[in-house]
Amino acid sequence: MLALGGMPGAEQHCRNRATDREPPMRNDRQPDRPPLTTGAGWHRRRRGLAPWLLIGLYVVIGLAPLAITWLRGHPRQGLAHDLSSGLVMVGFAMMLMQFLLSGRFRDITGRVGADITILFHQLIAWTILAFVLLHPFLYAVPGLWPDPAQAVATLRGMFGSDALRSGGIAWWLLILLVPMAMWRDRLPIRYEIWRLSHGLGAAVIALAGLHHTLTVGTYSADPWLAGFWVVLAGLAVASLVHVYVLKPLRQFRHPYRLVSNREVADRIWEIQVEAERRPAINFAAGQFIWLNLGHSPFRLVEHPFSLSSTPADRPRLAVTVRESGDFTNRIGEIPVGTRAYVDGPYGTFTLARRRASGLAFFAGGVGLGPIIGLLRELVQEQYRGPVHLLYGNRVETQILYRDELEAMGKTLDFRLQLILSEPPEGWRGPAGELTPEVIDACLDGRFPKDWLYFVCGPVPMMESVEATLLARGVPARRIVSERFKYS
Ligand SMILES: Cc1cc2nc3c(=O)[nH]c(=O)nc-3n(C[C@H](O)[C@H](O)[C@H](O)COP(=O)(O)OP(=O)(O)OC[C@H]3O[C@@H](n4cnc5c(N)ncnc54)[C@H](O)[C@@H]3O)c2cc1C
Repeated sequence: MLALGGMPGAEQHCRNRATDREPPMRNDRQPDRPPLTTGAGWHRRRRGLAPWLLIGLYVVIGLAPLAITWLRGHPRQGLAHDLSSGLVMVGFAMMLMQFLLSGRFRDITGRVGADITILFHQLIAWTILAFVLLHPFLYAVPGLWPDPAQAVATLRGMFGSDALRSGGIAWWLLILLVPMAMWRDRLPIRYEIWRLSHGLGAAVIALAGLHHTLTVGTYSADPWLAGFWVVLAGLAVASLVHVYVLKPLRQFRHPYRLVSNREVADRIWEIQVEAERRPAINFAAGQFIWLNLGHSPFRLVEHPFSLSSTPADRPRLAVTVRESGDFTNRIGEIPVGTRAYVDGPYGTFTLARRRASGLAFFAGGVGLGPIIGLLRELVQEQYRGPVHLLYGNRVETQILYRDELEAMGKTLDFRLQLILSEPPEGWRGPAGELTPEVIDACLDGRFPKDWLYFVCGPVPMMESVEATLLARGVPARRIVSERFKYS
């Protein structure tokens, strides 16, 4: 992190100068204008089930096998045995629900957010693994005393048994699948290969687990429990069909075309696609899409990118992409006219159904993508409350849409602060990162609780900004974040 030393103080810049080129961006033409109590785009509905309903459903389905066993009056089999069957049944129910969590169903992700849903999917995977891992060992526990050799023999018998083979396959595969997903960034395979292997592996675990449960499970003879497992497994399979067949089919019938591909800053590209037949997707500014450029939708070669355009720009959709890996490093080479497919919209980084008397945006690098979409919508809707943008980059050539940002003060009550960690000689704005001091100075040390604070950028920057806002008394629910990485 570069220090502010040698440069004029952050406070002076934030108060007096919006950029190193321009006078302040603050629009003081109507100083006595009352701020609106609602944000632009607030009227848009956010589709999806309420979080409390989702949690309730999750708990009910997860505990349903225990409830059925209890209601059906099955006799107790001893503590270790009951614990083993109970844990594995709950674990298997949660495992089958993992398919629904990762199926990009907007009823599930719409209100909670795709990132939170995936985070939950990842965290719960460890719980499932723990429950399933314990399953065979708990059966062996009663044999431990007085003869531990008997416990070992029980375990050997279980792992060598033909009748338990399907259970063994599910058990070993789960041990492989969960750590592979957690540390996939360190695996020497492409994301797409990992994704396919993850989906296939999970399907095999579900089927093998179902076979084990219905054939040799302690309660396999109970028709109510069997019915429960078949229905839940059916939902999991339906979710796979939705992701791998129905969704691609829908995309195939609704193609887009690349209509513009230009470098808008150093190694950052703006991609515009246009719907070919039907109207483009309906979205709220700030949401993201999964974009497939030049591949069949059935190959699932798609990447998540935030929309930098607004609903008013439809049928065009724009995303702003930084070169950062296998696909994005070559994005500038993709010719105009290339077929594209869009899945979405997703995400809760929007103003929809949110009320605020003012807005503060914190962007780092290409994190400006969804934020420029929101700002453009504020301009289009002539939002009247105060709007602050603190936008950090490493070097000046990475600053996105600078002219457009600087012109926003003509329409909005807008205050822009550009921050560079490697500023050129003569740079008159703050140098360094979005530190607490810079944030305090730019917001005049005021953090109204009825404002909304949008944060998007590199994860360390986001964590630092979020911590600063919380430390300044901003309620967590007023901070809206978009992470470009799920893990
Ligand atoms: C909600 C969301 C919004 C995003 N918005 C933007 C944006 O507006 N602009 C932008 O430049 N970047 C955005 N990203 C990041 C962008 O998706 C990745 O940088 C891009 O997919 C990397 O692909 P790659 O093949 O070039 O890089 P790689 O080197 O292959 O991958 C780098 C990392 O990116 C992630 N990744 C790669 N492929 C995928 C994929 N198909 N699906 C999910 N993750 C993947 C993985 O974590 C991987 O380890 C966003 C990410 C998310 C989750």
